[in-house]
Amino acid sequence: MIIGGGYTGMMAAARLAWRGRAVALLEKHELGWGASSRNGGMVHHGFKVGLQTLIERYGDRGAELYRSSIDAFDLVEHTITEQRIDCEYERSGHLSLAYRAGHMKGLGEEATVLRDVFKLDVRLIDDAELHSEVGSTAYHGALLVEKSGGLHPAKYMAGLTRLARDRAAHLYGGIAATAVERRRRGGFTVETAGAKIACRDVLLATNGYTDGILPQVRRRIIPLGRSESIRS
Ligand SMILES: Cc1cc2nc3c(=O)[nH]c(=O)nc-3n(C[C@H](O)[C@H](O)[C@H](O)COP(=O)(O)OP(=O)(O)OC[C@H]3O[C@@H](n4cnc5c(N)ncnc54)[C@H](O)[C@@H]3O)c2cc1C
Repeated sequence: MIIGGGYTGMMAAARLAWRGRAVALLEKHELGWGASSRNGGMVHHGFKVGLQTLIERYGDRGAELYRSSIDAFDLVEHTITEQRIDCEYERSGHLSLAYRAGHMKGLGEEATVLRDVFKLDVRLIDDAELHSEVGSTAYHGALLVEKSGGLHPAKYMAGLTRLARDRAAHLYGGIAATAVERRRRGGFTVETAGAKIACRDVLLATNGYTDGILPQVRRRIIPLGRSESIRS
């Protein structure tokens, strides 16, 4: 049983069904209602916190974590190509911009690790080359990462949904799971307003929308304020 019908839940539904598992997915709103149909569509490896910081703080586990983000990128790209998901995906590459001169040193160190440890195609570009690329003189240079791209988020979501459905996963929009309980003799019971469903495993894929369904998970969700501005 999968709870939550975004990228996480739907990719899991498609892959589990492909492996022959009986899969049901419950989504509180319509399928793809959450962040998965209304994000920026940038497909990158990496995290908000920089690679250097990740390795300094967590050592090998930090590197493993970073590797998992590269694997996730590969999975998305492979799924789109292999399953011919029409979502305007383009392997465009991306730039990490140095808006202070001092940022170039950190970007240089990051480039070295990305190249030497992760064998990625990256390079530093100076302010003159950057100017011809982005048309702005505001930056001191950039790190160019080739392995990244962009897609239409809702079309990708629709493609994953089609894939899961074609593989006979049972997808239910408009049904909220209200409780999950472990059964004494193994497995779980998932409750909704109208039913109690017995299942072997449960994947909770509810992201920041996680409600009171599992209080121990809800406690770990921290609201973060964020704002982005785009100037032309
Ligand atoms: C404005 C914005 C821009 C972003 N831009 C990018 C970007 O450019 N690149 C990128 O990689 N990421 C981006 N993200 C992040 C990305 O969208 C998310 O990480 C991703 O969509 C998470 O997918 P998910 O399936 O885990 O969660 P979601 O898509 O949020 O799905 C969770 C679902 O669980 C459902 N749910 C919750 N509780 C229950 C319940 N009790 N029963 C049933 N269903 C339930 C919700 O209704 C929801 O639909 C962005 C996010 C936002 C908000």
